[in-house]
Amino acid sequence: MVLYELACEAGLQPKWVASTEGGEFHSPCPKCGGIDRFSIQPNKQMKNCLGRYYCRQCHINGDAIQFAREFLGMSFQEAVDRTGALVDNSKNIFRSISYQSRSLRPISIVKPSELWQNQANNFAKWAHNNIFKNDEALQWLCTRGLPKKAVQQYQLGWCPNDIWLEKSAWGLKSNDSKKLWIPRGIVIPTFDKKGNVIRLKVRRDKYKKGDEFGKYIIVSGSMKGLNLIGDTRHKIMLATEAELDAYAVDYAVGDIVRAVAAGNNINRPDEATNYHAVNAKQLLISHDNDEAGATMLKRWQSWYPHAEPFPAPSGKDIGEGIASGLDVRRWILMSGWIDSADKSLIEWVLNYINERPVTRESYVCFEQEIALGSNSPRALTGDLQKGFRMMQKLTKDTYS
Ligand SMILES: [Zn+2]
Repeated sequence: MVLYELACEAGLQPKWVASTEGGEFHSPCPKCGGIDRFSIQPNKQMKNCLGRYYCRQCHINGDAIQFAREFLGMSFQEAVDRTGALVDNSKNIFRSISYQSRSLRPISIVKPSELWQNQANNFAKWAHNNIFKNDEALQWLCTRGLPKKAVQQYQLGWCPNDIWLEKSAWGLKSNDSKKLWIPRGIVIPTFDKKGNVIRLKVRRDKYKKGDEFGKYIIVSGSMKGLNLIGDTRHKIMLATEAELDAYAVDYAVGDIVRAVAAGNNINRPDEATNYHAVNAKQLLISHDNDEAGATMLKRWQSWYPHAEPFPAPSGKDIGEGIASGLDVRRWILMSGWIDSADKSLIEWVLNYINERPVTRESYVCFEQEIALGSNSPRALTGDLQKGFRMMQKLTKDTYS
């Protein structure tokens, strides 16, 4: 019943309908919604694992491995581990679900060794404790849209000095006497689902423009690929260049938008990012407002024809925009509105709400439902209608 459990984790609440193929369950479709159009047969024997799903409306279908990757954001290996699948031709399955862009060969993602993860866990914990002793760093992060609460949420850290470590202690092979370098700066860990650190980046404190190592250092042995943040089910994806900008976006609108940090302007997406970028309803490229940023936009548009330019309206990037007063949440939510009449109406309603004692909960719910429209998984549950009724009421109150 692994697929049944996975479906529950994805929030689908499958209902038993028949004993066909060892049990059949129906639920809303994680892609196109509805009430019971999505069917799962958790005990059906598939080529690589137990469990099949399909949607009678949008015709997506696959096995438990594919479900875990597509709707729970697991890596291929995580999905295989979870489903207990025995896979010997993994490459074939992989290709069938992730390659859609002909011009792009996504980066393969492989987790670092357990030893590396243990070392990285300890380092990240130590660095996280350090950052609370560094008011300057905390203050700087706050001006970039990452207040103390966000620093805690993302376990950001501070490395007070350049550190050189033995590579072998981190399970890394070394052909020369080079050490593992962790520079002084803000430490940005990436965690897997189990909470282990699989990637460490440092935003260098002593970076001088144009120096050979760059502003961000990826600690040797880290998992390759881009930093995907947030809920895999969100249909709006926003790509930034800088790591911390993606966190600032997630902190502001993580309930609606999924952020990804490309790391620089020329990085190719990895397999997971590629999958989600292909399937994103809106793919917003928040490139830097400079020449390098233009290159980033061009590259992403060559891979994904639906990629739209979405640079920060002020400043070089989102971080600078926030520092000069940009309200990230409002800016991004407004972009969900393609029709400009709707856009101005919502803007007006949000302005109106801000002057009234509306609870934070109802405000967030309202925004979410409106931003997602009929794509909302709750479109048929009445929440969306409630949101619109609220809007009608507000309009009426004002005009009558
Ligand atoms: Zn569907």
